[in-house]
Amino acid sequence: MNTVPNSFRAQPDDRGHFGQFGGRYVAETLMPLILELEREYRAAKADPAFQAQFDDLMEHYVGRPSPLYHAERLSEALRTGAEPGMGAQVWFKRDELNHTGAHKINNCIGQILLAIRMGKTRIIAETGAGQHGVATAAVCARFGLPCVIYMGAKDVERQQPNVFRMKLLGAEVRPVTSGAKTLSDAMNEGLRDWVANVHDTFYIIGTAAGPHPYPELVRDFQSIIGREARAQMLSRTGRLPDLLVAAIGGGSNAIGLFHPFLDDKEVAMLGVEAAGHGLEGNEHAASLAGGFPGVLHGNKTYLLQDEDGQIAEGHSISAGLDYPGIGPEHAWLRDIGRVEYANATDVEALDAFQLLCRTEGIIPALEPAHAIAAVAHRARTMPADAIILANLCGRGDKDIFTVASALGVAI
Ligand SMILES: *Cc1c(COP(=O)(O)O)cnc(C)c1O
Repeated sequence: MNTVPNSFRAQPDDRGHFGQFGGRYVAETLMPLILELEREYRAAKADPAFQAQFDDLMEHYVGRPSPLYHAERLSEALRTGAEPGMGAQVWFKRDELNHTGAHKINNCIGQILLAIRMGKTRIIAETGAGQHGVATAAVCARFGLPCVIYMGAKDVERQQPNVFRMKLLGAEVRPVTSGAKTLSDAMNEGLRDWVANVHDTFYIIGTAAGPHPYPELVRDFQSIIGREARAQMLSRTGRLPDLLVAAIGGGSNAIGLFHPFLDDKEVAMLGVEAAGHGLEGNEHAASLAGGFPGVLHGNKTYLLQDEDGQIAEGHSISAGLDYPGIGPEHAWLRDIGRVEYANATDVEALDAFQLLCRTEGIIPALEPAHAIAAVAHRARTMPADAIILANLCGRGDKDIFTVASALGVAI
């Protein structure tokens, strides 16, 4: 399908490497399963019936295609104070309107169809803030499969509404008490369960990380975001955007938006990591800006770690961004210079969150608020006819208590 010479979309290689990153660093016992998963995924990808079922669920269960929206009042507000003739047009891909409130469901639908195709009868997943856990619990209910969600004990405490949602949807939530008791530990526990139960269990990983083929298959399922956006932008404006922007936790919504545009040389791309309280200390989650390469969760990538390779616990006001690693494809895209990466602090994200509420009547999740903060900086440096397309990857209902507390408001 790929006819572009030296295509940026041709990765990974057949052993799962994006340049020096990615791969499959897993226990011997997992290897046969990883290979089986890869084989099945290749077969599913080539099977029109699989694609048709995916498309049908995307339309009727998830609510796709999500709209492409020109944020005129936000664009106007960002133009204030810019040089004359400057201040780009901001457009949003509205993935926050998906069923369950974020982009996670795209990937969960794809993976559960794969699980069913492979004859697996039990689903496991990890979750941090709970968004991936909720999306996984939803698709498990939809297909009548039992589901165990691993969640750091600390996150279970912090994210009670999502824990309750998962339980309502019929999932069993297992608190993980090892390590820092957060997302990274939950993922270790998920991989451990998988090794022990390979015969009947499918592990639905929630971001574009993990051992090959996960980074590739998560990217492919999430690429529906970029494929739709590219077609919508062409039909609405007759051209491609000048700049794509997306927030990065593990990197799945960002790679989903970017990937279909990677060979469009005129389209620049910006991934936005969470800078928490700032990059100076350890209170951030910017794996590219503040980490270095290492191996975690079955792949090689940039990681937040100390000199001994101990994984550091990330911090962000947005629980969905504090993963200590980043998907290997982003590590590669950064190193070859195809995608630029920046970051936004908690304070900048909070400001952007409020700005979007007031200018467009949209309450974003705190994750895309980081992307909007970066958009606010960039828009002023671009001409008034330039187009920025940002992924609004989640809605903010889940975050209002965090925001209230950060603003010192009692609710
Ligand atoms: C989980 C989540 C993220 C971070 O995950 P990625 O894999 O980087 O996309 C970002 N935004 C929202 C709304 C999320 O739920």
